[in-house]
Amino acid sequence: MDAREMALRQAYGHAVRWLASLSDRRVPARASVEEIVRELGAELPDGPSKAADVVDLLATACEPGLTAFPSGRFYGFVVGGTEPAALAADWLVSAWDQNCVMRAVSPAYAAAEEIAGAWLLDLLGLPSDSAVGFTTGATMANFTCLAAGRDAVLRRSGWNVAHDGLVGGPAVRVIAGEDRHMAIDLALRYLGLGKPELVKADGQGRIEPGALRHALAAGGQGPTIVILQAGDIHSGAFDPFAEAIGAAREADAWVHVDGAFGLWAAVSPMYAHLMAGCSYADSWATDAHKTLNVPYDCGLAIVRDPFAIRAAMGLQGDYLIQDEQGDPIDKVPELSRRGRAFTVWAALRSLGRSGVADLVEGLCRHASAFATGIAAIDGATVLNDVVFTQVCAEFGDDERTERVIARLLDDGTAWISGSTWHGRRVMRISVSNWSTTDDDVTRALDAIRRAHRSA
Ligand SMILES: *Cc1c(COP(=O)(O)O)cnc(C)c1O
Repeated sequence: MDAREMALRQAYGHAVRWLASLSDRRVPARASVEEIVRELGAELPDGPSKAADVVDLLATACEPGLTAFPSGRFYGFVVGGTEPAALAADWLVSAWDQNCVMRAVSPAYAAAEEIAGAWLLDLLGLPSDSAVGFTTGATMANFTCLAAGRDAVLRRSGWNVAHDGLVGGPAVRVIAGEDRHMAIDLALRYLGLGKPELVKADGQGRIEPGALRHALAAGGQGPTIVILQAGDIHSGAFDPFAEAIGAAREADAWVHVDGAFGLWAAVSPMYAHLMAGCSYADSWATDAHKTLNVPYDCGLAIVRDPFAIRAAMGLQGDYLIQDEQGDPIDKVPELSRRGRAFTVWAALRSLGRSGVADLVEGLCRHASAFATGIAAIDGATVLNDVVFTQVCAEFGDDERTERVIARLLDDGTAWISGSTWHGRRVMRISVSNWSTTDDDVTRALDAIRRAHRSA
C-alpha cells in the first residue's frame, strides 16, 4: 500500500467511528483549546512523519475537542448536517483535486454544475434560465447577487461601475427590512454600499409592504436595490413577496432575496405558499450547506439575468481558455476551485425530488414538535406565530431564560443557542440536520424540561 492509501484507510476508520459516536455522544466539546494544543503538540517536528501516523494523531488528539455539529441533537445556529452521498462525494472531491474554474479543463465539474444548477432552479421554483454560482456560503452568495444588482442598477443609470468604480457615480439606495440577517450588512460593506436604509418589519420580522412603498416613494428615482428575506433566523417568517416585489418593481428597483435556509420551502407542497411571488425577484441567495445538508462550505448565488452576474463576476484574462457559454468562475467572486457542485449533485441525485421535500418537511415537523413541547412547559412561551424550521422561546424573564440555556449546555444532551430578539433573551432552536430523529427531539425536550426545573 502506498502512503496515500494507508493515510486514507486511517482517516476512514476514524471517520466512521466519529459518525457512529454521534447518536450517543454529548453534543458540546469536552476539551478546551489549550488541551487540544497540548495533545497535538505545538513543536514543529524537525523531520517528516508517516502520513498515516499524522492522520491518526490528528484524529485522536482532536476528538475530545470536537462539537457534535452533525449530531441530530445540535440545534444551534443553522448548520445542517452532511447527507451520506454528499459526504462520500466530498471525499472524492479531495482525491480528485480538480481545478474547477473552467469548462475546458474540468469538463466533469462543468457537467455536474450544469445539471445541479438546473435541478436546483426546478426544485426552488426559480426561472429556468437563471445563472447559478456556487459560493462558500450565503454571505458570499448575497455578496455575488448584490454585486450583480449594484452593477445593473448603475448600468441602467448610465454608469459603468466595472470601468469607472463607484466614486463619482450616482448613489445607490439599498433598502432592507429591519430584521435582515447581518450577512446582508457585511455583503453591502464589502460592496462599498454602506448600511442599508431600514424599513419597518412586523413582530415576526416580515417587512411591511406599506412602509416599503412609502420609503421607495420618498427617495426619488435613482438606482435602487430592495433586499427581502425568505426565512427569519428567529421566527422563520417569510416576507410578503408578492406585495413587496410589486412595490419594488414600480420603483424599477433590483429585488434580491436572502433565503439562506428559507428558499427551500419551495420544494415542499406543504410550505411552498410561504414563497408565493418570490420567483419574481432578480436574484436569490441560499445555502446548500444548511437545508440541503452538503458539507461546508457551499452557498448558491442565483441571478435571473445571466449577463448581470457575468458582468459583475466574470473573469477576463488573455491566458485563460474561455468558453463562450461562460465558465464556473464567471459566476463567483473568488477563484473557487473546490468543486462544490459535485456534492450538491450527489445530495440531489441521492434524495430525488420527493426526498428533498421529505427532508424539508421532516425539519419542519421536528421544529413543530419543539414548539408544542415547549409551549406545554409551565412558564415557557413560544414566540413564533408560524413554525417553519426555527423556534424561539422564553422562560420567564431574561435571566431565567439565560439560566435555562446555560443548564442545557451543561447537560450536554442537546446544543441550543441563546439569542437576543427584539431586545429580549430567547432560546433559539434551529432544526437543520437531515439525521435528526423523533427520538432526538424527545431527548432534547426532556433535557429542556430538566434545565427548566433546575434553573
Ligand atoms: C446563515 C445565514 C446567512 C449567512 O450564511 P453563511 O452560509 O453562514 O455565509 C445569511 N442569511 C441568513 C438568513 C442565514 O440564515
